[in-house]
Amino acid sequence: PGNGKEEAEPSRSRTAEIYGSELAGLPQPERGLCLRRADALARAGRMAEALDAYGAAARLARLRPEELRELTESFALSIRDKELRLPPWGSGGPGGGGAAEGEGLGDPACCRPPELFACPLCRRLFYEPVTTPCGHTFCLKCLERCLDHNPHCPLCKEKLSEFLASRTYKKTVLTEELIVRYLPEELSERKKVYEEEMKELSNLNKDVPIFVCTMAFPTIPCPLHVFEPRYRLMIRRCMETGTKQFGMCLADELKGFADHGCILEIRDVKFFPDGRSVVDTVGVRRFRVLSHGQRDGYNTANIEYLEDKKVEGPEYEELVRLHDSVYDQAVAWFTSLKDNMKVQILNHFGSMPGKEPEPQSNPSGPAWYWWLLAVLPLENRAQLAILAMTSLKDRLIAIRRVLIFVTRKRPR
Ligand SMILES: [Zn+2]
Ligand SMILES: [Zn+2]
Repeated sequence: PGNGKEEAEPSRSRTAEIYGSELAGLPQPERGLCLRRADALARAGRMAEALDAYGAAARLARLRPEELRELTESFALSIRDKELRLPPWGSGGPGGGGAAEGEGLGDPACCRPPELFACPLCRRLFYEPVTTPCGHTFCLKCLERCLDHNPHCPLCKEKLSEFLASRTYKKTVLTEELIVRYLPEELSERKKVYEEEMKELSNLNKDVPIFVCTMAFPTIPCPLHVFEPRYRLMIRRCMETGTKQFGMCLADELKGFADHGCILEIRDVKFFPDGRSVVDTVGVRRFRVLSHGQRDGYNTANIEYLEDKKVEGPEYEELVRLHDSVYDQAVAWFTSLKDNMKVQILNHFGSMPGKEPEPQSNPSGPAWYWWLLAVLPLENRAQLAILAMTSLKDRLIAIRRVLIFVTRKRPR
């Protein structure tokens, strides 16, 4: 629609043509009259004519949203009238079967919405509908999942890489408002399904998402480069549910992933235009895997958290002495490293955390320990065995052996 005087000239003759004698005599067609006429046409269900009339009014001056209320309502009513003649939800729809239900996108036919308000990907009522530049509408989450795999419109195959790069998926307000107004029950049903899904996804004991990649330790940062579609989905879900947490495990040839791992918390996500991302995470706490599972292509696990067994009395005194002496050994080892080596470690892992006054205050033990375990030249398998120990004393003894070994090995 035009927005000013420069468009008024050609439109005048056109509106006159449309409205015939009613407007012919007027030197400047009156906009209000155009609109009243358009409203009346819309109410009468003469939608094509009504659209022309609104267009004419728009050419005189931009239409305000409230001036389109009659059009919106009439459209919705005519859609609804038409749709009501369709079989009710759940009966399988006119085409029967046939729906693309692959990859967990599909849902049982329990909530099949009127065709016009059904997402072509999940076949459910639009949820947070967004429209691509090619004009196709999908649920936001469905579209994102498609774009994880391939930056093209799933319907017409138009290239959507620029759209993906801009990351500005605006909601399709009209569709959403029509649903709010005319399908309120269906919408609340859809919302309920969505909220249940979110609740399930935010459970941090059951079906916890597992990133199978590397060793991670409590309190230690773990930057990740995320490019696989399944992990893109996983990271998005962690952000969306608000938990911002997932498990990190080493790969295991037999079981898929190791029996122990560390929960990582997302501190920041930076997206690249092509949908890849760099995720800045930090280790939170250790866990043991109780059972393995899968969800939409990524691994999941039921887990229990590991906490150090606390000791008291003389055992505690002994623990503190051991803790202090291993800490000093660690500092001595690090200080003795060549400068370029130190710089590399510092750049990657930051500086060594200080000694804590109370070594048992954290259920994962002191932070400096994990820093040391991460920077020492140890194989993943050995690190994993230490991660799984719930006795701080045992862990201190284990790393002392490593410290003695690396100190002796190095030529002086
Ligand atoms: Zn959908
Ligand atoms: Zn398209």
